[in-house]
Order: sequence, then C-alpha cells, then structure tokens
Amino acid sequence: MNAPTEAQTLAALQTAPAGAASLARPVPGAPMWLLAELTYKCPLHCVFCSNPTDYAAHMSELSTEDWLRVFREGRAMGAVQLGLSGGEPLLRDDLEVLVAEARKLGFYINLITSGIGLTEKRASALKEAGLDHIQLSFQDSTKELNDFLSSTRTFDLKNKVAAIIKSQGYPMVLNCVMHRYNLPQVGRIIEMAESMGAEFLELANTQYYGWAWHNRAALMPSHAELIEAEKIVDSHRARLAGRMKILWVSPDYYDAKVKPCMAGWGSLFMVIAPDGLALPCHSARMLPGFDFPNVTEHSIASIWRDSDAFNRYRGTSWMSETCLSCDEHPKDFGGCRCQAFLVTGSAEATDPVCPKSPDRHLIDEAIAVADAAASSSLTAQPQPLRFVAGAAKGGGMLFRTDANSRTLVDAVPGALEIATPHA
Ligand code: SF4
Ligand code: SF4
Repeated sequence: MNAPTEAQTLAALQTAPAGAASLARPVPGAPMWLLAELTYKCPLHCVFCSNPTDYAAHMSELSTEDWLRVFREGRAMGAVQLGLSGGEPLLRDDLEVLVAEARKLGFYINLITSGIGLTEKRASALKEAGLDHIQLSFQDSTKELNDFLSSTRTFDLKNKVAAIIKSQGYPMVLNCVMHRYNLPQVGRIIEMAESMGAEFLELANTQYYGWAWHNRAALMPSHAELIEAEKIVDSHRARLAGRMKILWVSPDYYDAKVKPCMAGWGSLFMVIAPDGLALPCHSARMLPGFDFPNVTEHSIASIWRDSDAFNRYRGTSWMSETCLSCDEHPKDFGGCRCQAFLVTGSAEATDPVCPKSPDRHLIDEAIAVADAAASSSLTAQPQPLRFVAGAAKGGGMLFRTDANSRTLVDAVPGALEIATPHA
C-alpha cells in the first residue's frame, strides 16, 4: 500500500512546530511523522501497490526489539504520529506489543491495513494496547473489481472487517485508490462507505510509483473520466456534509499542480522499511546514487540530522533554475524527486507535472494515450471484471506478487505473471 495519506500529511503539518518545513531552516527539529513499514509480506497483490517492485530482494525484517528502539528514539526526538503499515502489518504477530509500547511513549497510532487478519479478538486486543485508529483499504465497491485488482477473494472479508472496526468504536476511516477501472463507480464507492458508517473516506487518485508505475498505461483515466468523477464526488460531499468527510486526492498529472511531496524532503517524515532502511519517503528506495542508512547501524537522530540521504534535497541548493526562480518553491518544495526520476531519469529535475518543466510533454503524452484509450472501443467498457484463479497471464497489468518481484529483481524478460481483465 502504504504511503501516508493526504489526510495524514495534513495532520502532521498541523502538529508541526512553526517553521518545521521552512526552507530557511533546512534541518528541521524532528521527524514528526514516523511510518513503520513492518513487513513487505502481503496476502493481496494490488496492481497499484506503492511498495518497491524489487521488494522480494528485501524481505528481512527488524526484530521486535529493533522496532521498539526505533519508536523510543523517534519519540525522544519529538515524533508524534506513528503509522504502522506494510505490506500487511497484521502479519506481524508482535503488532500488539509494538502498539502497547508506542502508546506508552505517547504516539498517536494509526494502523494502515487491507484488513486481512483483523479478527474481533485482534481488533479488541489492539484497542486495549492503545491503537487510535485503523485505516481500511478497499479496491472498489464491487466484489468483482475489488477481487480482480487485488487478485484475491477478499471483498467479503473486508466487509466483515469494516463491521468489526465500527462495532469496536474505532473511527471508521476508509481508503480507496482511484484509477480508470473504478472512477466510473465513484458514487457507489461513496455510498458503500456511507452504509458502513465511515466518518472519513479518502479517494486517492493513483500516484504512479512502485507497481502503479509499471501499470501506468492501464490505470490512467482520461480527462473526461476524472472530470465526471469529481463532479459526482462534489455532489455527494455536499449531501454528506457533517456526516462523512470525503477527501479527493488530486491527480497531479492532470491538475498540472505540483504537490508539496512529503511536505518537503526530510522535513517531517521518516519511513522505516521492513529491513530497517530509513527513507525520506516510501518510494525513495529506488532512487539511484543513494546509500540509505539503516536503523540497525545508526540512530534515528544521526540519520535525520547527518545522513547525506536525508540532507540531499533539503533546502534549495539542489533545485533547478526553473524552481529557484519560481515563487512557488517555498510552498511545493520543488515537488516530488521520485516522480522526477521515474519520468525524466533525473531525480534533480523539475517535477515533470509542473507546466514550467521542460519535461511536461512526457506527462501530456501519457495523458493523450489515456484519452485515446478511453475513446477506443477496446477499452471503453472495461467492466465487469472478475477474479479468475491463476489467470495472471496473457497481457495486461502486472500484479504485485513475489514471483513478479523476483523476476524484476533478476531482470528476467518474459517471465512476468500478467493480469488480464476478464469480461
Ligand atoms: S498489495 Fe495491496 S494491500 Fe498489500 S501492501 Fe500493496 S496495496 Fe496494500
Ligand atoms: S517551477 Fe518548481 S517551484 Fe515552480 S511550480 Fe514548478 S515545480 Fe514548483
């Protein structure tokens, strides 16, 4: 999954001390938001997963003691928000121990989960341990598409988990990643969240990193599909005002508006990967030319303050002339380094979604392809899809599977398991 959501970014910004993200102060006071990716293991195989595509090469995991030390060090530096993510964090059988210690330390603790493995007993034990809230992901409002996109039969289970979360008094926070396949159903997704008693629904338009980058051509919607979906969201938002908050995470490719990625590199966020690698964002692991430090060898404080990895894109010295001379840079921090690298091949480049970027045409070309695909008779009606066991071959999208990840690590051509929509 499992990036911090827009809502979590906002929450962290609200709890940050004044000036924490200021460019005038390149080394901020504390990593306010700690995201602990407890494991890369996951029972689901989502085509838009933000985990690194080479995760199979990094399957070792920190011990319970290592995680507890990381939490203590982070809290001692002033971190206030703790996200427990993955992969699927419920696969860690020490989750209750980690939550209990984080609670003692005074963190606000958020579990970011697919829900698989959350029984009544476990939800109750986690509550007792001090878990503040659970963010449950859905792929769609229909069993067919939910199960297809995750390549698992999990829709019914997720519904049961939603009921458990509600019955145990947790805030009901749902998340759904949006793309060409489910944007036409956005109204039904909102109605599903409403019927589950959700207080908060995040509709997160796909960000093209990790597995979503590989599946970009298949996932990108057309302009028209996005405009139509946003209209529907707006009408439901007005109808549900005061009952359910809906966050529409803007598709930056189409808005041509640069997002203030992670509120600035090394400014508020620290992500700890399952094997202990400390990263300024969940996607940075794939950037070339970095030697990311590991928490098994360095303290959080020294990583945050002294490492080249966390200092490299702080401040403005790394920025292109385009950004340096632009009034927006104190607000958007020059955008996303991972997006710059994936699209242009250079992590220092101006974020290519920016209209001032010399590489903006690369984004426009991808959108033109998506627009053309939407009007083609071949793809105009991709529904309904259904889960077909073992049908991951034959052209289409790349599922996040261990086998596919190993193949990408070893760069073995022609051996990928590919997902195909089945009408
Ligand atoms: S495969 Fe799906 S559920 Fe698992 S970590 Fe990735 S996005 Fe989340
Ligand atoms: S030129 Fe740079 S600072 Fe200005 S809007 Fe574009 S990305 Fe942001």
